Formats: sequence, structure tokens, C-alpha cells
Amino acid sequence: MQTKTVINPFESALKNFDLAADVIHLEDNIRNHIRLPERELTVHFPVRLDSGNIISVTGFRVQHSTARGPGKGGIRYHPDVNIDEVRALASWMTWKCAVVGIPFGGAKGGVVIDPKKMSIGELERVTRRFTSEIAFMIGPDKDIPAPDVYTNSQTMAWMMDTYSMISGRTVLGVVTGKPISVGGSQGRNEATAQGTIFTIEKAARKLGIDLNGARVAVQGFGNAGAIAARLIFDLGARIIAVSDSKGGIINLAGLNPTEVSIHKELTGSVVGFKGSDPISNQELLELNCDILIPAALENVITEENAGDIRAKIIAEAANGPVTPEADLILHDKGIFVIPDILANAGGVTVSYFEWVQDNYSFFWKTKDIRNYLREVMDDSFDAVIALSEKHKVHNRTGAYAHAVSKVAEAIRLRGVFP
Ligand code: NAD
Repeated sequence: MQTKTVINPFESALKNFDLAADVIHLEDNIRNHIRLPERELTVHFPVRLDSGNIISVTGFRVQHSTARGPGKGGIRYHPDVNIDEVRALASWMTWKCAVVGIPFGGAKGGVVIDPKKMSIGELERVTRRFTSEIAFMIGPDKDIPAPDVYTNSQTMAWMMDTYSMISGRTVLGVVTGKPISVGGSQGRNEATAQGTIFTIEKAARKLGIDLNGARVAVQGFGNAGAIAARLIFDLGARIIAVSDSKGGIINLAGLNPTEVSIHKELTGSVVGFKGSDPISNQELLELNCDILIPAALENVITEENAGDIRAKIIAEAANGPVTPEADLILHDKGIFVIPDILANAGGVTVSYFEWVQDNYSFFWKTKDIRNYLREVMDDSFDAVIALSEKHKVHNRTGAYAHAVSKVAEAIRLRGVFP
């Protein structure tokens, strides 16, 4: 039996950071400081199940850097989430906020549960108790959570309410990704996917690829992946394959992502969609296509399969889907990678817009959000590609170099306390 190498995402994050730090000749005192998270909290707390049984649940909140502003980053519910994954995700938030120039640092949270096996009441109790456990370290000017894998706007509404009950007043700005009726922003639900599509449009223009008729494969059919599929379908692209945790489907003539979403809604998976053939998640990644959008979890393209990838553009809607070793192989093959800290930064950008709107109690129109988001994504794309070309490095190192320079500058200017 073949054993799969276990890849530690925080080690991958550090390798990417070190590559960029070398490129920008970052001084050691700053390098040693920002490699590691500023603050880490692990909590274990009891939750009463519907059966009356009580289980002990573990959760994490990591603040990687607050040099450029309050911590910012989602909360993930997953049975495999662990402290190193949360550290990696928190550091990616630091770099992501810096890449798009929004005044936040990086943070992330995780709760070790299998949300698919819990009732809505159990999920609410987990969310409220976890929020109370981390309440002392979050806040609208300290650290602002948001949704991530298997959490959503309802989760954020419960978090906001719990934090508000503890504070004795309604604090809308403590989390983003909330429903519109409780301080959410227009456009937040599709922001991650929309940002990814804006970067794909820029990359396609640069490479001379016509999106009308372009063949697209999407791994992960959740908030980021399903909406990205719909948005690029609306631009005329052909969605040839999509997948979720239960498996994938393919139809070379093209899938209609809205119909696939309805099928998933009804059956719990994309698998079995009418007119499609089954395909494994691994086969999907290796399809002959123009654009591959990994939109599920980390480490799906490694040195083991990078040589078999045939896409022209990889747009990382997911965080950390490509390992540092795979990056080199993809670069040598001439595949244009839009790295996660750029490709999926639309989510945190509109989270920032939501936070600004909550703080001002003044809410913007959808068209304004979309226009601001496009401007941010286009400018950030140009800055990253210019730096990658200047230093003759792959796009991820260019993006990190751009981000690490900004965080380092903030640290230098703020100095060392005391
Ligand atoms: P989600 O829970 O809405 O969707 C995740 C999807 O991935 C689901 O369809 C699930 O079935 C699928 N999936 C899970 N395990 C899989 C596997 N092993 N193989 C294939 N598919 C699998 O989560 P999301 O919010 O869309 O997040 C997806 C990725 O995007 C994550 O890496 C997340 O960190 C990243 N991201 C999300 C946001 C956001 O705003 N939601 C922002 C930035 C980055």
C-alpha cells in the first residue's frame, strides 16, 4: 500500500516566507520575529449534545501578526484541524491583508468537530461556547473572525450575538461574513470567488487566453468553488469538472453550475449529477483544461502530482493547495499560478468593507462594493506580477515579497516595545 507523505502546512508557509525574505534581503531581527505567531490560544470546552451526553471539544485561535492592524481571519470547523494548520492559515492572512493593502494583521481559528455529524442546535452551542472561550482576545479593534471551511453567515450571526451578550451591547464589527440583516455587507458571500475571477480575468488577458469557451475544472464546490464556477460560467467559460469531499463529476461538453448547486442542495453532493460521469478528485486536478481552481483544502498539488498538471492557469481559491516543492515544478512547466494570498483575497477585502460599514453604520450598494473590489484586485495583481518579473521568481514568491516588505516596514516604523 502506498503511504501518503504528511505535509505540515505551517512548514510550507515558513518555506514560502523564507524564500521571499531572501529575495528582499530581510534583516534577521525582523525575519526571526515575524516567522512565528504573536499569540496562540488552545481551549477545551464541554458541549451538551441533543442526546444529553456531554463531549469535550478543542478549539484554537492564533494571531500571527497585528503589526499592520487588528488580527483578521476565519474560523474553520473540521475534524482534522490542528494548531499547525491554524498557524499556517493565520500567517497566510497576514500576508494576504498586506498583499491587498488593507489595514489588518493575520489571525485564524479552528474547532475540531465534524460539523456534518452535528445538528443545528449542537452547532449553535459549539459556536457560542467557543466564542465565549476566545472572547477576551477578539473584538472589532483587536481580532475579527469570519467564516471559513464549514462555517457560514449563520455561524457569524451566533458569534456576533454571543460576543454582544458578553459585552452588554450589540457589537456588529466583531465578526464579518454576517447575514445582511445583522450588519453584513452586500457582496460578501460571493467576494472570495469574485476576487478569484477578477484575478483570472487579468491572468487570461496577460496570457492571451479567451475566457469565452475556456475549459475550467473546480475542486471543492462550497462557498468559494461553487460561486467561482457560476461567475466564470457567466463569462462564457465551460465548466468541464467539479468535485466535493464525496467525489467529482465530469462532462466535457460543459456542466451548468447552477443546476449542479441545486443537485448538491438536494442530495448533499455533486456526485450523481444528471448527464455527468464520475471522476476522482485526483483525476480532476490532472485534467487537460485552461483553468484549474482548487477551492477545497491544503496540499492537493504536491511534488508527487505537479508533473501531471495540465492546466494553463491555476487560481488558488483555497488556501495552501500547492506545496513549495510543487511550485517549482509548475513554474518550470510554464503554468501560471495565481497564489492564494492574492487569488482568494477578495473575501477578506469585502470583510474589510463590511467592518468599515459596521463601524460607520452606513451601508454601501452592491455596485460600489464590486467596483472597489475590482480596483483592489487589479492593482494587487499588477503589483505582484511586476515584482515576480523584476526578481525573476514565481508568482507566489513575488506575492510574498510584496507582502513581507509591507509587514516588515510596519514593524520597523513601530519599533520594539518597551
Ligand atoms: P466551504 O465549506 O463552503 O466549501 C468547502 C468545499 O470543499 C465543500 O464543497 C467540500 O465538500 C469540499 N471539500 C472538502 N474536502 C474536500 C476534499 N478532500 N476534496 C474535494 N473537495 C473537498 O468552504 P469555503 O469557504 O468555500 O473554503 C474553501 C477554501 O477556500 C478553503 O481553503 C478556505 O480557506 C478558502 N477560502 C475561503 C474564503 C471564504 O470567504 N469562504 C476566503 C478565502 C479563502
